[in-house]
Amino acid sequence: MDHDELWVEIPATFGHESFARLEHAFAEADLEFDSATRNVGVGPQGAETVYVFHLFRDHARTGARILRDVLELEDPAQALPFAGACPSCDAAVDDAWECPSCGLGFRPPYDPRDPFFVFLREQGAFPDARLDEVPSAALEEPTFIARALRYIWPERATPARRVFGIVTGVVMIPPLVLVGLVCLLFLPFALLARRRLRQEVGGGGP
Ligand SMILES: [Zn+2]
Repeated sequence: MDHDELWVEIPATFGHESFARLEHAFAEADLEFDSATRNVGVGPQGAETVYVFHLFRDHARTGARILRDVLELEDPAQALPFAGACPSCDAAVDDAWECPSCGLGFRPPYDPRDPFFVFLREQGAFPDARLDEVPSAALEEPTFIARALRYIWPERATPARRVFGIVTGVVMIPPLVLVGLVCLLFLPFALLARRRLRQEVGGGGP
């Protein structure tokens, strides 16, 4: 196995302070990691040094959760519009991305498609809260009966679906009735057979 199969590079660069905090947290969690420096741009004081991390692939999920906690990150894809008193001007904000009074923006500062956030999401650092809002029926393939019942269910059913559900119900009734009738028909014979059997056993005794 070569290096790339064993290690995964975190798709982000970190400044000195973040690097130090992450290095400490990774070591504390007993995580196998590797780090390197890169020089980027040339600022007033010369080239700026940034840090990159490589995580042992098997530890990527734990590492992603540590990154989330240490850097206090939330998934920008799960951000919701703001509701409440504007922190800047105190005006009432009703589920908006921007304060209607002073224009303060409430959008997350990160792009949800940023490779770093994609990485964190893929490694399970952000449980997908939106999945909880999806009705469970949409997540699993419903059985034929469950689907028919759902179509009859008044709150969910459109008139056309309700008709489909009723038709399905009506179609299902004759076979069930038939099975019931067959059982009833055989009941006297079964009772008779049992009685005969008892008589035979009784007659064979001393
Ligand atoms: Zn405001």
